[in-house]
Amino acid sequence: MSTRAETFRAEVVRREQLSSHFVRPVLAGPGLAGFTSTGIPDEWVALTIPGQFQTRYYTVREWDGAELTLDIVVHEHGLVTEWASTDCVGREVTISEPKGSFAMPADAEWLLLVGDLTALPAVARIMETVSVPVTAWVETPDEPIRAYVDRQKSAQVSWSTPPSGVETATADIVTSIDWPPGSGYFWMAGESSQMRAIRKHLMRERQLPTSAYDVMGYWRGGGQKRQPRAVDPGPIWRAGKAAGKSDDEIWADYDSARDDAAREKTT
Ligand SMILES: Cc1cc2nc3c(=O)[nH]c(=O)nc-3n(C[C@H](O)[C@H](O)[C@H](O)COP(=O)(O)OP(=O)(O)OC[C@H]3O[C@@H](n4cnc5c(N)ncnc54)[C@H](O)[C@@H]3O)c2cc1C
Repeated sequence: MSTRAETFRAEVVRREQLSSHFVRPVLAGPGLAGFTSTGIPDEWVALTIPGQFQTRYYTVREWDGAELTLDIVVHEHGLVTEWASTDCVGREVTISEPKGSFAMPADAEWLLLVGDLTALPAVARIMETVSVPVTAWVETPDEPIRAYVDRQKSAQVSWSTPPSGVETATADIVTSIDWPPGSGYFWMAGESSQMRAIRKHLMRERQLPTSAYDVMGYWRGGGQKRQPRAVDPGPIWRAGKAAGKSDDEIWADYDSARDDAAREKTT
């Protein structure tokens, strides 16, 4: 039995270039009719682009009940990067139900946000929804996109670029922060090894309880390859399509092939 979450089909109705490495596909269409936001400001969806089985996660920058906006970093090479770099208007994609993680305690007196360009959509949405004083640091390979965040709050964003020859250095931003007094909340997202370093810093140096922060690895750097999958979805997708199966039927085939592989591994 498949336990896969609900998915929604949508068409790319517009595509905007926000900066050299940042692209905005706007999704719409009747397939989004049942889509409901969690209301959690860093909520994300799993995006499946045409002809693919693998998904990549993207923050919901905006959902106005009709159009859903994703803002995508186009880096050196990658599945979604290559797709988003082309004219994807008119193409049909699938997205999952949204999920969120941001959980600022009700008594937090301030909020600190740190991230690279992949975290900017969440940083901006969080800034637009909270009422406590917020300070944000955003690392981008491009020029600062000042108009991206709510105008009144844009002054609270510090922009930086990674040091020359370095892919990302968001951990260095955190170790140089002058922390406000009192209790607050810290949210950060970006490259995974930077996030690991910061979790250690928050636990050991800052001695924060886990309820006082949320640090999420959004991507793996250093040219690391993705973990090979126990079952290659490509042939299942192609065979399913050739047999005229629906996406749900193909997902079910994939789930059952994975179950079989897991059983083989344990016997
Ligand atoms: C909860 C969550 C929310 C996210 N929200 C966003 C978002 O709103 N916008 C956004 O752009 N990304 C977001 N990401 C990150 C995004 O899912 C990854 O960057 C993803 O790997 C990009 O897919 P791709 O197909 O372009 O590259 P992949 O095919 O996944 O990777 C190809 C190669 O590129 C490298 N790579 C992956 N991402 C980057 C990067 N950003 N910079 C440099 N190298 C990279 C990988 O190490 C790999 O070697 C989010 C991730 C999570 C977990």
